[in-house]
Amino acid sequence: MDNCPICNGQKEYAKITFSVDLGETIVVVRDTPAMVCSLCGEEWIDDAVAQDLENVVNEAQKRHRMIEVVSFGLEKAA
Ligand SMILES: [Zn+2]
Repeated sequence: MDNCPICNGQKEYAKITFSVDLGETIVVVRDTPAMVCSLCGEEWIDDAVAQDLENVVNEAQKRHRMIEVVSFGLEKAA
């Protein structure tokens, strides 16, 4: 297990709430799997998850709501 490049703290698997402001819509994705530094709180999302996240965000954006809150796991299963 590699350490945090910023503070050398321990990276731990966690589920985070990812949010992105697209201008018209703010998409909030709950339960996004990520590695989080236990010391400084820096977050890393791996490429496979980032790809899924992009799909989730694109789908959420189509609803054209001001704020769209989705769950990473549920959205992927749909
Ligand atoms: Zn750190």
